[in-house]
Amino acid sequence: MKAAIDWTPPRLPVAGGGFFPARHVWCVGRNYAEHAREMGADPQAGSTVFFSKPATALVNADSVAYPANTDSLHHEVELVVLLGRGGRNLAPADALTLVFGYAVGVDLTRRDVQSRAKQAGHPWEMSKGFDQSAPLGAVMPAASWSPAGESLIELEVNGHARQQAVLGDMIWPVADLIARLSREVTLHPGDVLFTGTPAGVDALQVGDRVAARIAGLPELVFGVGQAEEGG
Ligand code: MN
Repeated sequence: MKAAIDWTPPRLPVAGGGFFPARHVWCVGRNYAEHAREMGADPQAGSTVFFSKPATALVNADSVAYPANTDSLHHEVELVVLLGRGGRNLAPADALTLVFGYAVGVDLTRRDVQSRAKQAGHPWEMSKGFDQSAPLGAVMPAASWSPAGESLIELEVNGHARQQAVLGDMIWPVADLIARLSREVTLHPGDVLFTGTPAGVDALQVGDRVAARIAGLPELVFGVGQAEEGG
């Protein structure tokens, strides 16, 4: 029988073949102390700041359009965790059993929109959840790779280093993030979790070439294309 509504979830390429069907993108802010400080926040404050992007924000392409309605498009390189199983109220010791795989992602952010929203006490949604705001490299199955404390995470723009850290700098490691998020919402297969960015976030311009890497994962490379029409 033909479906009344023609829609399939975004399909993310998996290294070695196949696709991961994405349901939803969760993100966490302030998971590296130096980045919390550069944003004017206290890394000791203790709570996890979760937010969302729609799954349709995910993109695996050579070029990403500079979004409308911003003069300050920032890059945030992040380790991304993709869930093959769901759960609720998980203990950290059980959380990694949900993980299907890992990828390198960039949480693109309209920083000027976010700053204005924070000042006004408004939601961040339009600073984070716009079209093509979540470029993602190929997904590496968890059987082949898992995060190590000494693994380098880095981002270059036009060959110049902008962000560089190790995964051990995360305040909450992957298992703790999954457990904490599962106390807020029910997690489902297809959920994607951006785990926060290290220091060095900065603006991108049309024509820039971005290379994002985590040791052992497929590299993510994309250009910043011509600006979208604004609203
Ligand atoms: Mn981020």
